[in-house]
Amino acid sequence: MGVSENIKHFLSNEIPSNVKLIAVSKTKPVETILEACKSGHKMFGENKVQDLADKYNELPKDIEWHMIGHMQSNKVKYIAPFVSLIHGVDSFKLLKVINKEGLKNNRKIDCLLQFHIAKEETKFGLDLSEAVEFLSSEEFKNMNYVNICGVMGMATYTENEDTIRSEFRELVHIFNQLKNTYFSNSEFKEVSMGMSGDYKIAIEEGATMIRIGSLLFGARNYTK
Ligand SMILES: *Cc1c(COP(=O)(O)O)cnc(C)c1O
Repeated sequence: MGVSENIKHFLSNEIPSNVKLIAVSKTKPVETILEACKSGHKMFGENKVQDLADKYNELPKDIEWHMIGHMQSNKVKYIAPFVSLIHGVDSFKLLKVINKEGLKNNRKIDCLLQFHIAKEETKFGLDLSEAVEFLSSEEFKNMNYVNICGVMGMATYTENEDTIRSEFRELVHIFNQLKNTYFSNSEFKEVSMGMSGDYKIAIEEGATMIRIGSLLFGARNYTK
């Protein structure tokens, strides 16, 4: 099957209609993404700012671009004018820069707070106490150009399903805590978790967005 058929098949057979699919096109050329668009699907994710900006420039403007990777704050400006959702906000510093760039572009930028739920030290993310600290601050309350829509996390890369499940549960727990305390508004509603290897568990545990790459596009070749 081609990538467009893969996406259609995935949408109609693998996920409930209330779960959003972010098709992770990182490392794939624009031709492949155009092919993928034939499915009618318009939500794509990239993990590098430069690639995201290049692909945005080259591809149809009705694509919704999701930034799913770790970001340096000095690069926010390249995607601030168009990005649909920034999944990986893992510091207050980054959030402040996004707010500043939102102001410059006169748009409110949708973001998710990324939490560190995996056992692996290499993964990025906040812990709950860090988030609570800045969410309680006056400075945060005065930020008018960011819209925090929910949380994001990555589980440990492991075969052990119990580990993955408990990490996803932790993320949902964090989501609920924050929702009750800081975000009683309905815009705080997304839980972005689950990739090709663990999306089924993520959906069972309450994901509202899953980020799927290799299952749709085939294995990535990093030597390009
Ligand atoms: C690459 C990536 C994905 C997709 O990974 P697959 O295993 O190919 O589905 C999801 N989320 C993030 C943050 C990624 O970097």
